[in-house]
Amino acid sequence: MKNPKTGKQKNIWLGFHKKDRLERIAILKENNIITPEFSDILENNVNLSCDTAGQMTENNIGTFALPLGIAPYFIVNDIEYSVPMVTEEPSVIAACSYAAKLISKSGGFTVKIENRKMIGEVALYDIPDFDKAMEDILKNKNDILRIANESYPSIVARGGGAENIEVKILKEGDTSFLVVYLTADVKEAMGANILNTMLEGIKPLLESITGGKALMAILSNYAVNSLVTSTCEVDFSLFSNDKAQAFNIAKKIEMASKFSKMDIFRATTHNKGIFNGIDAVVIATGNDWRAIEAGGHAYAVKDGKYSGLTEWTFDEENNILRGKLTLPMPVASVGGSIGLNPTVKTAFNILNNPDAKTLAGIIVSVGLAQNFAALKALVSTGIQKGHMKLQARSLALFAGAENEEVDIVVEKLLETNHINSENAKNILKEIRNK
Ligand code: NDP
Repeated sequence: MKNPKTGKQKNIWLGFHKKDRLERIAILKENNIITPEFSDILENNVNLSCDTAGQMTENNIGTFALPLGIAPYFIVNDIEYSVPMVTEEPSVIAACSYAAKLISKSGGFTVKIENRKMIGEVALYDIPDFDKAMEDILKNKNDILRIANESYPSIVARGGGAENIEVKILKEGDTSFLVVYLTADVKEAMGANILNTMLEGIKPLLESITGGKALMAILSNYAVNSLVTSTCEVDFSLFSNDKAQAFNIAKKIEMASKFSKMDIFRATTHNKGIFNGIDAVVIATGNDWRAIEAGGHAYAVKDGKYSGLTEWTFDEENNILRGKLTLPMPVASVGGSIGLNPTVKTAFNILNNPDAKTLAGIIVSVGLAQNFAALKALVSTGIQKGHMKLQARSLALFAGAENEEVDIVVEKLLETNHINSENAKNILKEIRNK
């Protein structure tokens, strides 16, 4: 927001974390980050109704709440976003916002999306002649695509639909499959139901062409035709008075990125940290986080070895640390449960109703920011320093501290060297007995 008198930009996020919940919502509203319809939803904490929940899944007995927060300062392809995040883990949102703020000083994130198509597969077996079956499928490609599209005409009417098929023979020991991969443009949807319907539609034709039997017909979550790359350049000379120390940290972040390619124990945790951010936005926007996790971890092993997903390189000559994250990110802006949950609609409102590709770019940028924050902490102060304050807060709440008691218990806990639940309970008892 620009101050009309000074012409200077006012940072609306300064002190945001110290406000109470309703004050924070008011800031979002005053600055048009959220529209009144949706700020009402937040103010009144309107959640998924039990009636809707009961229609969504089986044997329903209630709903389950998680904290919703906001990470500001995300500049993605020159547009600023405040990103809604759902997570139960302390420090994730703080770290993400911190990283986004630092990265925004060097211009933010640049996102590239080459393609956004989904892949599904039909696995066929008991085929009399695999090579001939493969040839015959390719000969009948147009008919197969036509039947796939006839199975889901509404996506064709939206300008999407089945586009291509590829065939592969897989053989291990005495088991062989002929696999037909179908690629489709699913537009704004994630596409699981769309693809599955198309695949079941072409199954009988594939069986008749090959003379074999279909074992299954299902979407693949290895969405390598929906890859999204986010990059950033962090000018390390900008954010510390101690230049030598800052460059040392940048060099160590590069080393940490190399280490995550060499050691599976580190790679797994490195990637967990990336998904701390990614899952939080995927959940807030009502997307299928299991699908995104499965695709992301499979992509981490694409070169035959499970590796850290980000790459950081330090350009010593220009003092620039360059970060890059590529991931399959087939998130949707419609479909599934997206339109059903009022909090999800609120999250979309906060993000200014992005289309599926824009949302995917924001999410991968959040993953890159989260990784930057984790690596920076790990190679400098260590991860626990930042974590302990938030951990102390959780312990205070767990011990039963209420309102202003929470801050007092946190402060006293941090003064001791024993940040544990027993100590939190004792401190609470002490302050209540005073
Ligand atoms: P839907 O079945 O909800 O299909 C998309 C819906 O969005 C359709 O009803 C479509 O309308 C509507 N729509 C409106 N506008 C558009 C647009 N511009 N582009 C595309 N669709 C539009 O969802 P998906 O097929 O995306 O499937 C996702 C769901 O499937 C998720 O809930 C997921 O959890 C689940 N799932 C996931 C699996 C996996 O990951 N392996 C497996 C099985 C299910 P219309 O019908 O008029 O075209």
